[in-house]
Formats: sequence, structure tokens, C-alpha cells
Amino acid sequence: MIFETLDTYGHEQVVFCHNKDAGLKAIIAIHNTVLGPALGGTRMWPYKSEQEALNDVLRLSRGMTYKNAVAGLNIGGGKAVIIGNPATDKSEALFRAFGQFVESLGGRYITAEDVGIDVNDMEYVYRETEYVTGVHQVHGGSGDPSPFTAYGTLQGLMATLNKKFGNEDVGKYVYAVQGLGHVGMEYVKLLKERGAKIFVTDINQALVDKAVSEYGAEAVGLDEIYDVPADVYSPCALGGTINEQTLPRLKCKVICGAANNQLASNEIGDEVVKRGILYAPDYAVNAGGVMNVALELDGYNRERAMRMMRTIYHNLARIYEISDRDGIPTYKAADRLAEERIEKIGKLKLPLGRGHTRFQGRIRGN
Ligand code: NAD
Repeated sequence: MIFETLDTYGHEQVVFCHNKDAGLKAIIAIHNTVLGPALGGTRMWPYKSEQEALNDVLRLSRGMTYKNAVAGLNIGGGKAVIIGNPATDKSEALFRAFGQFVESLGGRYITAEDVGIDVNDMEYVYRETEYVTGVHQVHGGSGDPSPFTAYGTLQGLMATLNKKFGNEDVGKYVYAVQGLGHVGMEYVKLLKERGAKIFVTDINQALVDKAVSEYGAEAVGLDEIYDVPADVYSPCALGGTINEQTLPRLKCKVICGAANNQLASNEIGDEVVKRGILYAPDYAVNAGGVMNVALELDGYNRERAMRMMRTIYHNLARIYEISDRDGIPTYKAADRLAEERIEKIGKLKLPLGRGHTRFQGRIRGN
């Protein structure tokens, strides 16, 4: 049953991690290491069953292969889940036991923060293994990726405007930004600096007030964001907001935002095309976060990080070329770009291990 599932999704290795004394139950899934070691965050979640945890880690690790490949990184896809409640089940022993399992893989899997995990938890993991990104800046970590993700989103937006309207003059267009959190607010700031008109919404009124007073945005209700006369809809909150109910209401010509899993289904993705809307694939647009942590492997440098964000423009342009070339929706073209890159680079047969031990930039604390 498990091997059948692994066959379907093409995973290389799945590791079940158990330490009774530390109360650790975790699964590490390595999906693909053709491009390099598998990088992806660790999620801590009170899964209702082991099967649910397994399904999640298999799905998420495969997603990381595609995201890292489209981002142009020399990195494969992996992910880990810890079964437990982040509010009550965390301990030093748990994270150190988990770190020992990561270490045992010798660099085939490199971990990072994800839902339910913060930088302090990663400090414990880091005591047992150096195959960790997203640690404190004092250890050579990269810190909060959100400003980079916002800047990367702007690059993706420019490529998308260029494709749709033949120019990338951000300030000429009207935006509907949903979600003013770490990424959304910074993105609004970047739009404002370029002179754009912006509609905003968030469940947090204080954030809405800030966007209005500091960036001259116009506040609209949570549900109204789908009806405003905007050229661009930018989902920066939750996934699944482009669905059967919302799509017919959207007046935009472009969808480009930082949220993960924006399309409720592939069918909706096909419907987006029929309505003449250009969809900027989410995982290509929001790759700023993973690019930022990937740079830690070489020794983090802010300047290089900003340069790397600009490559998101070219990644999007390439996706639109493939979409035209093969006559397929952009969400499928993004997957194809990833698959083509993995296939081509795989044929070069890089010696396994290249890129596995590039931690020399990290000053390891004791
Ligand atoms: P965040 O939690 O800081 O912000 C999310 C914001 O959305 C919050 O302000 C929240 O109040 C608001 N929100 C929630 N439900 C809403 C609703 N129904 N309508 C309007 N607003 C709502 O998260 P973030 O770090 O800014 O990330 C935003 C999105 O981008 C997420 O989907 C995340 O997975 C994705 N993402 C973030 C990064 C990053 O670097 N932070 C990287 C890649 C992808």
C-alpha cells in the first residue's frame, strides 16, 4: 500500500522517525534529489491519523520538488511532518530527537520552518544537525523571508503584466490585495511606491487601517474584494480563493499573488484561461521564501538574495513561453518547466553529493 503510493508520486525515500522517550513521531519524505539535496520545511500538526500525516508529507514534498526546480535552484524536494500539537507537545528533547534523524540522512534532506514550527524550535534541531535552514541570523540564518517573498511577487507581477498588456508599468494598474500580513503589507508598499491604486482587505482591522493611512489604499469588505474594478487580483492570505463562487465575480485580467494553492482545482485553472485571465502560477511567484533559505547553504548574503528574487521575472516569462508553445494553461506550464529541468539536468548525471555539503558559510555555534 505504501510502496504503491510512493510509486504513484515517485518518491525516493520515506523515513518514519520514532523516539518513545522524547515523544517523537515524525515522517520525513524525500521526493526527488536529481537537482540536489531535498529541501523543505518541517510541519508540526495534530494529525488525526498516521495516514493523514503520511498523505500530507507525500503531497507537500512533491510540491517542493516542483517549486525548487522552477525557482532554478540546485535543490530537490522534501518535507517533514511531526505528529503533535504545537501548543502543548513541544520540547527540547522532541526537536533534538528529530534533529538526530535529519542528521542520520547525511544531508540528503535539509529542513526549515513550516506551519507550527518557529526559529526557537529550529535552534534545538540545529544542536543535532547542521542540515537546517531558517535558524537565527547569528548562525548565518536568513531571518524573515517575507520582504523577499513580496519583492519576488513584484517581479512575477511585472513579467505577467508584460505578457498580458505589453508593458510592466506597475503604477498604471489597479490592484485588489487580499491579506495584509507579512507578505501582503510589504507588497502593498511596493505597489504604492510605483504609484498604483490599491483596494485592500483583511480580517485584521488594524492592518487594514495601516494600509489606508500609510499607503493610501482603499479598504473594502472581506467578500467585496472579488467585485472591485481591479486589473489585478493578488491573493496574499489563504489558498483556494479562486473557485466556482469567486471566479465569475472577478473583473481582473491578471491573477498574481503570494498565497499558496490559489486555485481551488485544476478545472478552475482551465476556466480562468477561458475567461481571458492570465494566472501567474503561485509557487513560481512566491518562491522568494525558499530562494532565501536556499542561499543559506552557500553562506547567506542579502545582496545575492535580492538579485535572486529578480530571476522570478524570467521564470514567469519562461512559463508563459511554454504555455504558448504547448497550448496549455499556465498552471500546467509551470509543472512542465519543472519536469523538463529535472529531466535535462538529470541527464547530465551530476555526481551524487554535489551541493550536499555546502555549509561552509555557516558559523556553527556550540
Ligand atoms: P500572514 O499570516 O502574515 O498573513 C496572512 C494575512 O491574511 C493575515 O493578516 C490574515 O489576517 C489575513 N487573512 C486571513 N484570512 C483572510 C481572509 N479570509 N480575507 C482577508 N484576509 C485574510 O502570512 P504571510 O507570511 O504574509 O503569507 C501570506 C501567504 O503567502 C500565505 O498563503 C503563505 O503560505 C504564502 N507564502 C508566504 C511566504 C513568506 O515568505 N511569508 C512565502 C511563500 C508563500
